[in-house]
Amino acid sequence: MSMDPCGYDPPERAALTKEQALQRLLARVEPVDGTETVAIAEGLGRVLVEPVTSTIDVPAWDNSAMDGYAIRHADLAPAGGRLRVAQRIPAGATGTALEPGTAARIFTGAPVPEGCDTVVVQESCEAKEGWVQVPLDCKANANIRRLGEDIRTGAEVIAAGTRLAPQHLGLAASVGAARIRVYRRLRVAVFSSGDELVMPGEALGPGQIYNSNRFTLFGLLDQLDCDVVDLGIVEDTLSATEQALLNGAAQADLIVGSGGVSVGEEDHIKTALERVGTLELWTIAIRPGKPLAFGRIGTTPFIGSPGNPVSLFVTFCLFGIPVIRRQQGIAGDLAPFTLQVRAGFDWSRPDTRREFHRARIQTAEDGNPELSVFPSRSSAVLSSVAWADGLVEIPEGRVIRKGDLVDFLPFKGLFG
Ligand code: AMP
Ligand code: MG
Repeated sequence: MSMDPCGYDPPERAALTKEQALQRLLARVEPVDGTETVAIAEGLGRVLVEPVTSTIDVPAWDNSAMDGYAIRHADLAPAGGRLRVAQRIPAGATGTALEPGTAARIFTGAPVPEGCDTVVVQESCEAKEGWVQVPLDCKANANIRRLGEDIRTGAEVIAAGTRLAPQHLGLAASVGAARIRVYRRLRVAVFSSGDELVMPGEALGPGQIYNSNRFTLFGLLDQLDCDVVDLGIVEDTLSATEQALLNGAAQADLIVGSGGVSVGEEDHIKTALERVGTLELWTIAIRPGKPLAFGRIGTTPFIGSPGNPVSLFVTFCLFGIPVIRRQQGIAGDLAPFTLQVRAGFDWSRPDTRREFHRARIQTAEDGNPELSVFPSRSSAVLSSVAWADGLVEIPEGRVIRKGDLVDFLPFKGLFG
């Protein structure tokens, strides 16, 4: 049974704010102990244990920023700007020292020859039969990328605690880091509580529904680069719930459950956790997703979300993902990325709890981004989450007028 069956509750004294709940959760989990060294090609989505530092200067030598002619600027005036093209230096080649009064045909990325202080871009030169006419007023010392200009030997290029995105892999490669040390992958055990649940592909019997939470959770965990241990559907009995928790604790770094966290006769998480581990059941002043169970079986933390699919999604975004990111070793602020966007709607019936509505971001007529909200408030409508680009956060008791700035949590910002 849900604690919030009819969709309205009076304010509760004991309820935590979203911020308090997140702070408590993060104080209770730590990065996994266990690291491995992997090839950078295997590094996408992994979290760095130690910074990547450069073993080289980048660029490693002075090189041409343009296709053009490498010259010694002082040679121009005596020669009236007319220089013999004595060599050709494409990228990957090295030239020889510039002889006085000569130029080198040079291409982007090629090392400038000794004696060269200037590269003149090809468009401003006139080349003919082994000679080039260079404008006398061309800028000295131009178009050369200097040794170490981007990165110095020994400099930290990627900080510890960074989840590696494609650009980090490229950066690591650019400084010659073939292998990197990362936290081992987090193993997360997942179960879904509920006698009414069946898997897609099976026929629905009377009173049954499809287990959607399993797929939402697996998808989220996949995007977070976790290994998943599938504990399946757990029947609504105390012994099955205890068994699932013990199985999870034996195999995983974190257990995530959906359903059964309320205090109804069919909700066994609370009692089971009290018997096999420790439990804290929190009421959080948010809508949807009020109850959240946090506990520990041995050293393995457990997070239990309400079974309601939208509540599950919202609580997982707000609390589950930050916990996972902390366990994965990610440094810095773990709260979901939030930005302020203009409301394209009125909200005149504020709740006593912080509300998270499913929202879409669109370009308004004046060209600025604007949010619209899903028409239904029901937390049972998973289609609202699929429709949305993110969640809009409406502070408790606040009336929103079209045009007000509101906090928006884009789904795309959740997985960094
Ligand atoms: P509970 O938190 O167990 O009281 O469940 C709240 C609501 O969510 C009920 O309507 C359940 O049928 C539904 N529910 C629970 N678990 C799932 C699940 N895995 N997939 C879809 N709906 C679920
Ligand atoms: Mg249930």
